[in-house]
Amino acid sequence: MPVTRVSRFGFVNAYLIEEDDGLTVVDTMLPRSAKAILSAAGGRPIRRIALTHAHGDHVGSLDALAAALPGVEVLISARDARLLAKDKTLAPDEQQGKLRGSYPGTKTRASRELAHGDRIGSLEVVAAPGHTPGHVAFFDTRDGTLYCGDAYSTLGGVATTAKVNPRFPLPAAATWHRPTALESARALRALEPTRLAPGHGKVVDSPAGVMDAAIARGAG
Ligand SMILES: [Zn+2]
Repeated sequence: MPVTRVSRFGFVNAYLIEEDDGLTVVDTMLPRSAKAILSAAGGRPIRRIALTHAHGDHVGSLDALAAALPGVEVLISARDARLLAKDKTLAPDEQQGKLRGSYPGTKTRASRELAHGDRIGSLEVVAAPGHTPGHVAFFDTRDGTLYCGDAYSTLGGVATTAKVNPRFPLPAAATWHRPTALESARALRALEPTRLAPGHGKVVDSPAGVMDAAIARGAG
């Protein structure tokens, strides 16, 4: 499958994924990105918006897109749905990490809350907590593309969020619980993705080696 990446300044990405009935949008970037996403769709119907997590640079244009797309399905993990509603409490049985980064919330609510193993068309939902408590990745079962959100970023070199990458510190600096993020990075690597499509940076083909190196650095 061709990967359609919509990017603002090469810094933050959304993706358009083809399905039989139309498109799934993964993440919505910063505010004022709806136009770029709609224009990349080129008139093809957008059926679903699937969010990897509730940070402001991933949900920034959700309200604008939902307004432009009546009836669109909005999907986020049950855990990060609470952050989308600006509920920043941690459950007693959760890792008591600090919620870092921006959680501006949205007026739009999820129409379906996601759990590990759910399907969104051809995408399989893979729990990848750590960067946020309810962060998920989406694995395209047709071709092995992994839409990994901020579990890995490729800007300034492929990195996990378990350790600050001095060339692009933002994702690790905005991370809730780094040991959990490292575990998730390992779980995503075990999927043997053929392509890594991150929230920040370029799409990387055949990413096994660079993911291994990123995990090793994250653990170091
Ligand atoms: Zn993030």
